[in-house]
Amino acid sequence: MKILVVNCGSSSLKYQLFDMLTEEVLAKGLVERIGIEGSVLTHKPTGKEKKIVQQTMQSHKDAIKMVLQMLVDPQYGVLSSMKEIDAVGHRVLHGGSKYAESVIIDEKVLDAIEEFVPLGPLHNPANLIGINACAEALPGVPMVAVFDTAFHQTMPKKAYIYAIPYKYYENNHIRKYGFHGTSHKFVSQRAAKLLGSENTKLITCHLGNGSSVAAVKNGKCMDTSMGLTPLDGLIMGTRSGTIDPAVIKVLADEEHMTINEIDNMLNKQSGVLGISGISSDFRDLEQASEEGNERARLALDAFDYKVVCTIGAYAAALNGVDAIVFTAGVGENSPEAREAILTKLTYLGVELDKEANKKRGEEIMISTPDSKVKVFVIPTNEELMIAMDTMNLTKELI
Ligand code: AMP
Repeated sequence: MKILVVNCGSSSLKYQLFDMLTEEVLAKGLVERIGIEGSVLTHKPTGKEKKIVQQTMQSHKDAIKMVLQMLVDPQYGVLSSMKEIDAVGHRVLHGGSKYAESVIIDEKVLDAIEEFVPLGPLHNPANLIGINACAEALPGVPMVAVFDTAFHQTMPKKAYIYAIPYKYYENNHIRKYGFHGTSHKFVSQRAAKLLGSENTKLITCHLGNGSSVAAVKNGKCMDTSMGLTPLDGLIMGTRSGTIDPAVIKVLADEEHMTINEIDNMLNKQSGVLGISGISSDFRDLEQASEEGNERARLALDAFDYKVVCTIGAYAAALNGVDAIVFTAGVGENSPEAREAILTKLTYLGVELDKEANKKRGEEIMISTPDSKVKVFVIPTNEELMIAMDTMNLTKELI
């Protein structure tokens, strides 16, 4: 069974084609600058040379057509015909309270993705365009929506309700939803396998450009740090994470900034970039800090501190923790960040294996054999998770 996984952003489209018999990636790639001058497709067929195509792509429909052409290209392709694509899995940002699982896309699902555009104004419209473009290019091929919010739908109401007048929850769907759900689900399932038990208390830390922590009990999410939107919670590459909401009024009054300007500042100019004034990339900050840059050091310290506090809060919420999992760009690749965080968690019974912690980008246990709380680095694979959900929902249809 061959499954195409598609992740549409406002001007980009990422894809991976899987052979689900072996869970192997046959090809993957990225289209950038869709609808902007200088559109470019980077296509990487497994075991073959990479191909870069620079060609105007006005819309996601043009981009999908181009991707499909590459997949069957005599030189760079990996399929003999488009008919080999059995199903398409789409990453969709926001499924509101409607979807706790992935679903086969039909008119009702399209309407729901549209309904939640106010909650995901940048992503949901792009996701819809991608779905419609695929439906046109691959008529009759079943498609599945995999929501970034779905895994967190098991949170109890006391964890997701905001303490503002209840009518905003009822009328405007304002509550915590959480994101990175596909990643938290993937690594928590993998950690349960490594622990040899489904009955576990886990804290999963997805630390990348966007970052979030989830508390997972017996496979179900009990709390997570992102909120109505991905802006809440941890300090991120360019997002502020949790701040006192009163900051907005003070800036509006003193700096005469509009709501949109403040929203843009909180999402794009804040986080470790905002504190350091140097970069949103942790590699740059680690280097600058080593060279003595104090604000880079402060940004990293503040980031680590917030992760430590959130893990502590979730250990309390779960009344204990069996394992902590690190994933995503920083979680998988920064021994420095992991050490800074884990050495503040000795009170929980975390004992770091400093030698194991030197490894980057591979699945490994980084706690000592005697550590009461196990710590794993588990590389996330959201695309494979999307492909697995797509296969499970569509295999009867094919
Ligand atoms: P992601 O959003 O999961 O792709 O993570 C991207 C972030 O991971 C980048 O912004 C980097 O800051 C970080 N990252 C990647 N590799 C490393 C590394 N070797 N050391 C520290 N941070 C890294």
